[in-house]
Amino acid sequence: MKEKIFSEEIPKCEKCNSLVKPDIVFFGESLPARFSSSLRSDFPRCDLLIIMGTSLSVQPFASLVMK
Ligand SMILES: [Zn+2]
Repeated sequence: MKEKIFSEEIPKCEKCNSLVKPDIVFFGESLPARFSSSLRSDFPRCDLLIIMGTSLSVQPFASLVMK
């Protein structure tokens, strides 16, 4: 897989032939269900929150501190 990623080929899964993509949520994709359940349990216990990789203009991250 590493060779495919660093070559000019579009990496595809060897089992199901679907595209291989990084383990991230792209703009427009739904967040995993775990996000909202973790938010409810983790946020009340949080003393400091560091959010990286966002301008904080996109929901739901933009309003996290209001929750
Ligand atoms: Zn697959």
